[in-house]
Amino acid sequence: MYLQNPIVKSEKLYKYLVENASFGVCIVDLAGQYIFFNETLTVITGYNAKELSSMNHTQLFNTRYVVKNDGFQHPNQPDTITPNFTEQVHYIRKNKTPDSLLMSSQLLPFENSHCIVSTIHNNEEITRILSRNKNEHFNHIVKQVSNDGIWDWNITKSTIDFDERYYTMAGYSKGDLSNRVSQWYKKIHRNDVTSVINHFKSYMAGEIDNYDIEFRFKRKDNSYMWIRQRGKIIEVDDNNKPIRFVGTHADIDIQKEYEHEIILQAHFDSLTFLPNRFLSLDRLSVTCEEAKRNNTLVGLLFLDLDDFKKINDTLGHETGDDVLIEAAERLRSGVRNVDTVGRLGGDEFIVILGGLNTADEIQPIVENLLKKFRKYFSIKNRELKLTTSIGIAFYPTDAEDTSTLLRHADSAMYDAKANGRNTFSFYTKKMNTLAQRRLCIEEQLNEALTRNEFSLAYQPKVDFSTQQIMGAEALLRWYNPHLGIITPDEFIPIAEHTGIINQLGEFALVEALKQAKVWQNTILSSFQIAINLSPKQFRNPDFFNVIKANIEAVGISPQTVELEITEGVLLKGYNYIQDILSNINSLNVKLVMDDFGQGHSSLNYLREYSFDVLKIDKDFIKQINQSAKDKALIHAMISMSHALGIKVIAEGIEEMEQWHALKQLGCDYGQGYLLSKPIDNEAMTLMLKKQVSKPSSILNSSIN
Ligand code: C2E
Ligand code: CA
Ligand code: CA
Repeated sequence: MYLQNPIVKSEKLYKYLVENASFGVCIVDLAGQYIFFNETLTVITGYNAKELSSMNHTQLFNTRYVVKNDGFQHPNQPDTITPNFTEQVHYIRKNKTPDSLLMSSQLLPFENSHCIVSTIHNNEEITRILSRNKNEHFNHIVKQVSNDGIWDWNITKSTIDFDERYYTMAGYSKGDLSNRVSQWYKKIHRNDVTSVINHFKSYMAGEIDNYDIEFRFKRKDNSYMWIRQRGKIIEVDDNNKPIRFVGTHADIDIQKEYEHEIILQAHFDSLTFLPNRFLSLDRLSVTCEEAKRNNTLVGLLFLDLDDFKKINDTLGHETGDDVLIEAAERLRSGVRNVDTVGRLGGDEFIVILGGLNTADEIQPIVENLLKKFRKYFSIKNRELKLTTSIGIAFYPTDAEDTSTLLRHADSAMYDAKANGRNTFSFYTKKMNTLAQRRLCIEEQLNEALTRNEFSLAYQPKVDFSTQQIMGAEALLRWYNPHLGIITPDEFIPIAEHTGIINQLGEFALVEALKQAKVWQNTILSSFQIAINLSPKQFRNPDFFNVIKANIEAVGISPQTVELEITEGVLLKGYNYIQDILSNINSLNVKLVMDDFGQGHSSLNYLREYSFDVLKIDKDFIKQINQSAKDKALIHAMISMSHALGIKVIAEGIEEMEQWHALKQLGCDYGQGYLLSKPIDNEAMTLMLKKQVSKPSSILNSSIN
């Protein structure tokens, strides 16, 4: 007997299996381009082979997987890398209906890189998997499918006969149902009956080829069930007029329920039940089209909750979720029924206000929304204060397409945030310029470090008792040939956003330490250097080692190094922050609480964490002689710090009166334009030399 080469045989076998599998199979490269897909995938998606091969797999299915180090990164646990990944994907079929599939992907070596092999199961398959633990449920479906009811319609007499299965399906017994067609129509839900009749007429008239329709049918207990009715004309008279029409009735209640759920999932946010990004944007384009026809305006509000991240980080995701649900509820109740409130993701919402005649109509609505947020949020026995910032843009005056409109409303939202939050801003052309500038800075920032565009300025810190410079704060400066001078207030937030702050922060640390070491060696051995740290740097697990290694490499005494952090670091509420801070403490460097008095700063921080120095924010100092309350607060800060063994420095001292007031309150150190603006290292060197050779009060010397 002759046998085929077993390998050839098995290859053929596999090929056959894959090509004829009842589920979709595909192989894609890491960019999402198809290398192979089987025919079933074209059936599932509705796209033919040619269309599918030109599409991008990841985009088509909105997959969530991220390939990282020979595996998939878990979307919620970035540290977990697995060789395979299963997810439920929601996408839009070619016929524009939303569909949901179960996709299992495996990463395999391919040529010199990797490829992803996915198997894709359609709804029915998912229903089967979902019902695996509900055997009864499953058996039920199987029974239904194999046990359709049969009907036989006599068109001339207008009667229908049914088989027994037909009765029992809807809870009837023989004799309960009249065989008159008119009676049968009465059992159909009133919202469906017209379409059933029309469908029937069209089929009889030969206008459509298939009789296949879904409708709700009344059960004996008066509840409704979903039925799929399919039929065929099996007898015609001499004039080709139909006489007999027979077919099946299938119970599709469960499928309908599931379909409904899928549609919900694909269009609504599962937490707040508001339209999700997909549906919101769809509604936005429909509303804009309507406005175009009716010559009206559409107002688009882009909302972002203020400080939501803090709540999420400090009180946990569950509380965060409750806040989002409550916020959604407040937004919903603050607009008309015809308006759409949607959740774009995270703490971002949009409100679509259509049919406006003038832009002025929007103001009362926006004010009402802001008011809704003034009430405290009572969540899990806590009273939380949460405000929102709103950006507003109009169609068609601000933008003629929805994506530009959304972008403009987003820029306006940024502006509202910049204006102190808890407020709204209308989009203006200037904002667009600002948004473009942000992008431009982001672009330039990428290479700015390698192009050596950064330097440090030093702002002297003065001891109140000696009136002498005892150290300086290092402040980043950026000069870019295209953009000119960019202030840190502008580029630091962007660097934090892109993550480049880690490299930038290390640059500032290294430069400042080296320069301080030079001054210590050559001019003032006790020179103290202060370096600013961004909260984002604390997210870098290697951060502590970076600090330690650089201090050691430069050989500077840790007691002369001060690290300035803001409350943003502490609010995160994570244990590891505490760990890094106590590690930093163990290095013997000094920890400075910067910008104290801004935001939520609490004197409790001073007890909870081991700070060496407290830096009072310049906004407070500005008020010291204007506001008795601020002065009293500064007094309290200084007394409390001293009681805890913490030194106090005041920043932003611009006037002599402020200096005197602070001195009187017992402040230890001062910084500000009155003493010196931030200066470059050469100017600083001169200043230090001058002080050492001829010690006199910095207030008497005219440095600036
Ligand atoms: P900051 O840490 O609060 O720094 C003090 C800022 O106040 C500096 O602005 C300084 O020039 C300014 N200033 C000093 N004296 C006076 C005064 O008398 N009146 C007024 N009105 N302002 C005064 P600068 O250099 O523009 O820095 C702004 C912020 O950028 C800093 O605020 C800090 O948060 C951040 N930054 C600067 N360099 C770095 C850095 O190396 N790393 C990190 N993470 N942030 C930095
Ligand atoms: Ca600072
Ligand atoms: Ca500060």
